Amino acid sequence: MKKIAIIGAGISGLYFANLLEMDSDFDYKIYEKRPTLNLDESYGIQLSVNSIKLLNKIGFKDLKAHDVSFPNKVNFIDAKNNNKICDIDITRFNEESNRYTTLKRSTLIKFFLNKVPDSKINYNIELKDVEYGEKLKVNFSNNLNENFDYIIVSDGVFSNTRSIIAGKDTNPKFLKSVALRGNIKTHNNSDISIFMGPNFHFVIYPVNKNKEYNFVSIIKKNLSKKQAEDEKLFKNNDFLQSLISQINQNAFINLNDNLENIKAFPIYVSKKLEIIKRKNVFFVGDALFSFPPSFAQGASQSIETSNDLFADIKNESDKYYRERIIKIKSVNCRSKLNHLAFNLKNPFFAFVRNISLKYLTKNERFLKSYLEKIYRN
Ligand SMILES: Cc1cc2nc3c(=O)[nH]c(=O)nc-3n(C[C@H](O)[C@H](O)[C@H](O)COP(=O)(O)OP(=O)(O)OC[C@H]3O[C@@H](n4cnc5c(N)ncnc54)[C@H](O)[C@@H]3O)c2cc1C
Repeated sequence: MKKIAIIGAGISGLYFANLLEMDSDFDYKIYEKRPTLNLDESYGIQLSVNSIKLLNKIGFKDLKAHDVSFPNKVNFIDAKNNNKICDIDITRFNEESNRYTTLKRSTLIKFFLNKVPDSKINYNIELKDVEYGEKLKVNFSNNLNENFDYIIVSDGVFSNTRSIIAGKDTNPKFLKSVALRGNIKTHNNSDISIFMGPNFHFVIYPVNKNKEYNFVSIIKKNLSKKQAEDEKLFKNNDFLQSLISQINQNAFINLNDNLENIKAFPIYVSKKLEIIKRKNVFFVGDALFSFPPSFAQGASQSIETSNDLFADIKNESDKYYRERIIKIKSVNCRSKLNHLAFNLKNPFFAFVRNISLKYLTKNERFLKSYLEKIYRN
């Protein structure tokens, strides 16, 4: 029986563990840096059909219908006057029980944990070093060491394990943008709505059928390296208020007293696509590559990477990185383009964007090449 170490209990690591649970050829352990996983978070996540199809393989469609939402459209709205510009019918990408889904992140994590025994997860622990031989000897932060056949690195965008394996600093870069998250009280629409303003956009969608809505805004912010790394700044009330006012000044919706559970954090993305090759050590999810969030594909791609890697290990083939590079490039250029287009400051460029969006969102060829190619492959 092959032994696998999974480093990081996030979306990609836990999906990988679920696949291993269904296969008796493997034994595994998960190593998570945090003391516990947050199962109360009310923030949301959008999952497109490409990942829903893979989640359904491990029983996702049996989740209580009440705990998920199936939006029909993505609405594009001018944040300043609340006027709808156009929409995309996202049901056109659905296939039977594989439907575009929004839910709470914590609902997804709980679903993953359902099939992973507690004894498989070690908390408060990090990988410190690997000795390469017949087996991979992993030294952990608690002075323990253990032998494995494979290491799956799934410790997210700030992957310290990636730097250790690469033997150099592989830190991500600050996107000069900040995310503001929360739950919005006064909203009543079961679709996904993208409100575009100067130097910001925000997205609202339901996270279940209980009238709970996720609010997430991406705000351009030219912080210094020191400021971006300052955790206290992101918890500071004045700083949070300044982000809210930046939106309020240019939005029809007033966010004052309308948001709860507010949290802000800097957005980091991968500097470049660099495949680190070490025998039997593989990277998945954000540890492999982290995209700008404006295409809402990070989690879906994390699930895809884990699925493809598992198939590669199982079939002893070596297609994983070759095929991933192509997909990463496609998703990354769309994510960067969305990030640019959704936050346009110049009114003329915003006007041209709106006209283009009206046309493109009804153009078959565009929808097929820009969205279907990612959602259906
Ligand atoms: C504002 C914003 C909105 C987003 N919205 C969406 C969306 O709607 N849809 C979507 O598809 N994607 C979205 N994403 C992207 C998505 O959240 C990520 O791509 C996804 O969570 C990555 O999963 P992961 O498993 O690679 O990493 P994570 O989910 O970050 O998990 C990494 C895990 O590793 C642990 N860890 C960290 N370091 C170590 C270490 N050294 N040792 C052991 N464990 C460690 C962490 O504690 C964590 O549990 C969004 C991102 C942002 C910033």
